[in-house]
Amino acid sequence: MRLLSKKFKVGVNTAWCKGCSLCMGVCPKSVLEMNDRMKSTPKREDDCIGCRQCENICPDLAITVKEARENV
Ligand code: SF4
Ligand code: SF4
Repeated sequence: MRLLSKKFKVGVNTAWCKGCSLCMGVCPKSVLEMNDRMKSTPKREDDCIGCRQCENICPDLAITVKEARENV
């Protein structure tokens, strides 16, 4: 059981993502990666600390970070 560990859901609206990579550059935990369709993808969502820098920097409002409930 993990106490005091928050989990986050990082959602990318791929219809709006233009692959500028700003979100990848700003993420302190390297959660986001470019996929082969040039869209940002949360590859390491478990490492997300919920700082929302990606959400704030995205010029196309394509990222949404939400706190996730863990049922363990
Ligand atoms: S900052 Fe936004 S538009 Fe740019 S790659 Fe990230 S999700 Fe896509
Ligand atoms: S909220 Fe912070 S840690 Fe999580 S993916 Fe965005 S920039 Fe990275």
